[in-house]
Amino acid sequence: MPHYSYLIIGGGLAAVAAMAGIREVDRNGTIGVIGAEVDPPYDRPPLSKGLWKDKSLEGIWQPLDKTALTLHLGRTARSLDPGGKRVIDDRNTTYTYSKLLLATGCTPRRLPFGRDSIIYFRTLGDYRRLRSLTDHGSHFAVIGSGFIGSEIAAALAMNGKKVTLVFPDQAIGSKMYPPELAQYLNDYYQAKGVTIMGETRIIGCQAKQQRKILTMVDIRTNHQEVLEVDGVVAGIGVEPNVELARAAGIRLDHGIRVDPALRTTGPDIYAAGDVATFFNPSLNAWLRVEHEDNARTMGGFAGVSMAGRSVAYNHLPFFYSDLFDLGYEAVGEIDSRLDIFADWKIPLRQGVIYYLKERRVRGVLFWNIFGQVDAARTLIAASGPFGPANLKGRLPS
Ligand code: NAP
Repeated sequence: MPHYSYLIIGGGLAAVAAMAGIREVDRNGTIGVIGAEVDPPYDRPPLSKGLWKDKSLEGIWQPLDKTALTLHLGRTARSLDPGGKRVIDDRNTTYTYSKLLLATGCTPRRLPFGRDSIIYFRTLGDYRRLRSLTDHGSHFAVIGSGFIGSEIAAALAMNGKKVTLVFPDQAIGSKMYPPELAQYLNDYYQAKGVTIMGETRIIGCQAKQQRKILTMVDIRTNHQEVLEVDGVVAGIGVEPNVELARAAGIRLDHGIRVDPALRTTGPDIYAAGDVATFFNPSLNAWLRVEHEDNARTMGGFAGVSMAGRSVAYNHLPFFYSDLFDLGYEAVGEIDSRLDIFADWKIPLRQGVIYYLKERRVRGVLFWNIFGQVDAARTLIAASGPFGPANLKGRLPS
């Protein structure tokens, strides 16, 4: 029965950062990692961005300090006994620990049809599967216009594929961008050759005749259209993997609730990354954030905290995206239902978009502007009142 000073469930970016955090404080404690994927830890953002441009697969592997580290890959933790400090995996291996980190991430939501003919794009395995389809396929349907949908549609189009982007809203990223920017993105994607099918839902998906190498897939929309494609990719959101924690009686709050030291309510059990719900003082709100900066920063704090050094995770994470040759960095609440003031330097091409509530800045999106998120964090922490008059020109554009 393996025993670890630090057992980490999950092998993603939060886990990688936690290993480094532990080693900052404790050079020798044993670390065990249980990871569901068979691949060793890798950088996830390039799967929908850089790997479709100039980045190579070799560049995504995460450097690991191998001292007293054991990776148990291709295994899923099935039960957690907080009292006995024991975890059992899907092959009935029992692990014991002194400190445990739940970095279990999220699982993609699925449509109630289509089974394996839809790629719910999240892992390196999903990337490999889509890549191999692109070797012979020419037309792809992408469902959803959130992060995955918008990035993968652009990636496939940049690789010469015919792409049909299908989503329920009117325009790409409508939940985040002001309407004029979301509409601009529709036009921009169309100009890049992507067929936009907004206000459309997929109601069926079926693999049909097998051509030499490819299986054709029919997808049906609520407008009675049928699209015949060589592959279907979906990004329709994710759900945090909280079942282990729930069954162990750990407090949940959308995700696994943690205190500033990233402790859960379970003894010597911590959580970090996409799965963890934490309090952010600047926003005065509980957050669960599904982006790289949060995974890395929070994972690092969790590792340090588990190894016995006192920490307070007050970080407001940023995120970013690449859409063809457009890009942005953003921090805070980027929600198109808030009051929005767009301070354009070049209309729709470059500018700072402020998201406000009750005259306080809740979020800032830097459209085609990079390296300014710290200034935005300061603004979000400030009490205001703010409005167009004192925001215009305030942050560098
Ligand atoms: P997402 O960004 O939450 O977007 C999901 C989109 O799918 C939403 O616009 C949603 O619309 C739509 N949707 C929901 N049900 C649908 C349906 N039945 N048919 C069509 N569309 C539907 O999630 P994601 O794109 O799947 O990304 C997954 C996760 O990876 C997210 O946590 C994301 O943050 C992360 N990620 C981040 C990055 C980045 O930081 N650049 C890149 C890739 C992935 P409604 O809101 O109306 O439901």
